[in-house]
Amino acid sequence: MSAKFFIIGAGLWGAVMAERLASQLHLPVTIFEKRAHIGGNCHSQLDPETGIECHIYGSHIFHTSLPEVWHYITQFTEFTNYRHTVLTKHNGKIYSMPINLATINALYNRNFTPEEAKEFLQREIAEAKIAAPQNLEEQAISLIGRPLYEAFIKNYTQKQWACAPKDLPKEIITRLPFRTSYNCNYFTDTWQGVPKDGYFNLFKRLLDHPNITIELNTSYAKIKDQLPKDATVIYTGLVDELCNYQYGPLAWRSLEFSWETVNVCDYQGTAVLNYADLDVSYTRIHEFKHYHPERIEPFNLAKSVICREYPANFSPGLEAYYPVNNAQNNLLYERYAEECAKTQQIILGGRLGKYKYFDMDKTIADALNTFNALQKEIVG
Ligand SMILES: Cc1cc2nc3c(=O)[nH]c(=O)nc-3n(C[C@H](O)[C@H](O)[C@H](O)COP(=O)(O)OP(=O)(O)OC[C@H]3O[C@@H](n4cnc5c(N)ncnc54)[C@H](O)[C@@H]3O)c2cc1C
Repeated sequence: MSAKFFIIGAGLWGAVMAERLASQLHLPVTIFEKRAHIGGNCHSQLDPETGIECHIYGSHIFHTSLPEVWHYITQFTEFTNYRHTVLTKHNGKIYSMPINLATINALYNRNFTPEEAKEFLQREIAEAKIAAPQNLEEQAISLIGRPLYEAFIKNYTQKQWACAPKDLPKEIITRLPFRTSYNCNYFTDTWQGVPKDGYFNLFKRLLDHPNITIELNTSYAKIKDQLPKDATVIYTGLVDELCNYQYGPLAWRSLEFSWETVNVCDYQGTAVLNYADLDVSYTRIHEFKHYHPERIEPFNLAKSVICREYPANFSPGLEAYYPVNNAQNNLLYERYAEECAKTQQIILGGRLGKYKYFDMDKTIADALNTFNALQKEIVG
């Protein structure tokens, strides 16, 4: 393997890999990024009018229970003690997510204790009589019962996938977290928060090394013929695009974001409000100032930045957000991965290169593991 490394994509996976190659193996690395910024989908920037930090590709909250990931990433940023909570609007009423005792009691208009709620839901599940779920709808009902499914999962899922849940594979939902306590923390991980001085500064520090060169606004297609013949290409873009779609395109879901600055101090009282019903075509509204209540001035300003998130169909050329990991697409991905493995000089990484949804901590863990294997190969 050649030690001339070129990384395609300055997202989290590519940035971690570049940092490791530069700092641990003392190798020069060039990153080519087709966008005008580093950070990939984790990118954030300060809104020039309000000073509010906005997550440009949707809300990003860091959470992990992996000590090696926490130890690694905290070399480059401090995190706030932000704890994520999510609310959802259904039939004009606001409920707490993920489903917890407050949600159950509000939907059924009861005051169950935890034990009563457990027994009640077991009866609801038994009543649905689904022994062997065949699709996502049956899978969800077999986990939480029909009324909770119909209120909070059915229409939200239909909006996300543009497809009725009964026509979706059951594998999309392997578990549906519900709690019979009033714990409304969205994540249960040991470490959680958002970078104290922003994702943009986290990425600046990750990539701030004399061995790292970054070329923005530069797609792989533009430079691939100029790379040395013995270059090792670490590729975090779409694998089907890399292979000229020779077996056909991989399926993804896309998103559209619609931004607005509103003349109120607090638009919705929380960072994320989901919309569970079909009469609203977006799935959620993000209000970014709530990620940083400690930033007093933007937080108290009589303006706020909100962003409506709309699920969208994907076709090559649009942003790919969520892989559609059914059996057929996974097989197609394997064909592409095998094609790339025929050349020693391409390493696939990241959510696009691996056709897999990764949270940020899993992205870091995967990049670190790939680096460790590479290091063994290079230095033995
Ligand atoms: C809406 C949404 C919300 C999320 N929220 C959270 C959250 O709250 N918490 C969490 O832990 N995770 C969250 N994630 C997951 C998180 O975004 C990923 O873990 C992370 O972005 C993966 O990093 P990556 O480097 O693999 O991919 P990306 O961030 O997509 O980076 C890939 C980079 O490669 C570049 N690129 C692609 N092709 C080419 C090419 N041909 N030439 C040059 N450059 C190229 C792209 O422009 C991009 O910058 C969320 C994801 C989504 C979609």
